[in-house]
Amino acid sequence: MSMHDHDPALAAAVFDAALARLAADPPELGLAREPGALPAGTITATGLGAERALGLLRDALLPASTAIDHPGYLAFIPGASTPAASLVDLLVSVHALYGGSWLEAAGAVHAENEALAWLAGLAGFPEGAGGCFVQGGTNGNLSALHAARERARHGGGRAARVAVSEEVHSSVRSMLRVMDAGALDVPGGRLTGGALEAALEADGDGVFAVVATAGTTNLGLVDDLAGVADVCGERGLWLHVDGAYGLGALCAPSVRERFAGIERADSFIVDPHKWLFAPFDSCALIYRDPAYGRAAHRQHASYLESLYVDDATFNPSDYGVHLTRRPRGVPFWFSLAVHGTDAYAEAVESTLALARAVADEVRARPELELVAEPELSVVVFRRHGWRLPDYGAWADGLRLGGRAFVLPTSHAGEPVARLAFVNPRTTLDHVRAVLDAMS
Ligand SMILES: *Cc1c(COP(=O)(O)O)cnc(C)c1O
Repeated sequence: MSMHDHDPALAAAVFDAALARLAADPPELGLAREPGALPAGTITATGLGAERALGLLRDALLPASTAIDHPGYLAFIPGASTPAASLVDLLVSVHALYGGSWLEAAGAVHAENEALAWLAGLAGFPEGAGGCFVQGGTNGNLSALHAARERARHGGGRAARVAVSEEVHSSVRSMLRVMDAGALDVPGGRLTGGALEAALEADGDGVFAVVATAGTTNLGLVDDLAGVADVCGERGLWLHVDGAYGLGALCAPSVRERFAGIERADSFIVDPHKWLFAPFDSCALIYRDPAYGRAAHRQHASYLESLYVDDATFNPSDYGVHLTRRPRGVPFWFSLAVHGTDAYAEAVESTLALARAVADEVRARPELELVAEPELSVVVFRRHGWRLPDYGAWADGLRLGGRAFVLPTSHAGEPVARLAFVNPRTTLDHVRAVLDAMS
């Protein structure tokens, strides 16, 4: 058998392993190992054969990786892909889809655009808004800010800096360095129109865009999008909203009001791999006017021009920092198509309700104290009398016991506990066990 021949035995074994993982309730949490404890010498001249290599993957390597969808995984931003989305990710892989162009992947791109249109509609963007799915929020922020700078340059302005808040995500600062652009730091926690206006008045030279955050990663707080949009509108600045985490809740009626003003942004991102139940890795990047994305990102080469004959065709490669891409939005589209948008609203609402119940639980325990009232689904609190090593021991105990994956963070220089909820399968009982371990 040559290596390009279909091997039914291998296919069956891979599907069995995938189905076993889907049926695991809950999955093993999985634990990182020392590098020396993992199998080495796996690449050989003649190959290990399918059975041995799959054995290594299934029995040694995957268990040494954490299941982000474990109901006790509450660190960073968890993920909780629906089985529908995960299964279609497998199917997309075997279809060899080049997702950069309409010419090659019209059906897949159309499906992705249906999903993007749902998100654009939730944000109140006009007809004609659109973009593409990129690898993650970091790439999404970079792609949007590059488009913003290109617009400013074509307008003849000095486009040197982007206004950001203290709580802006690390990826924005990192991508500004990639762009060789500067930051105008707007003081204060939550970005407001007033603070932005004052900072621009004092030192606005060369500012071409503003990044507002809809759901900060550390505390889950939403900037004053309406106030910021007012200032951007008056000054002709591009408003980009980083909602990698928080804009998953655009579909949730109980918090929709917190995002008022997003309808006036020039671009926004949201990661379906965070709070919209899609597999890694997937960021929806949406422009109010995709022409700016295209002007900034379309690549030109003699062999590419045949993709651009017709402006009605939609090439995802035109809208981000990429050329070749997998149509990573298709699993998200499929799950949305299967379950309907009401199911998404309900699932997000259930995680919001859990976060509120956890906040109540924290209030009811005298040894604990909330650091901030949760606005979305991140709950941050202190354990009186604890220092960083105590939080570390708490996290290690839960992780090594295979029960939960939590990590401390810091707020205003103080180490604190932080739990993030996006998984509808996480229950209050799971969280009570995590809190009990602090008493
Ligand atoms: C997670 C996150 C990002 C980065 O997204 P990646 O997909 O990890 O690249 C950016 N901004 C915010 C607010 C985030 O929560």
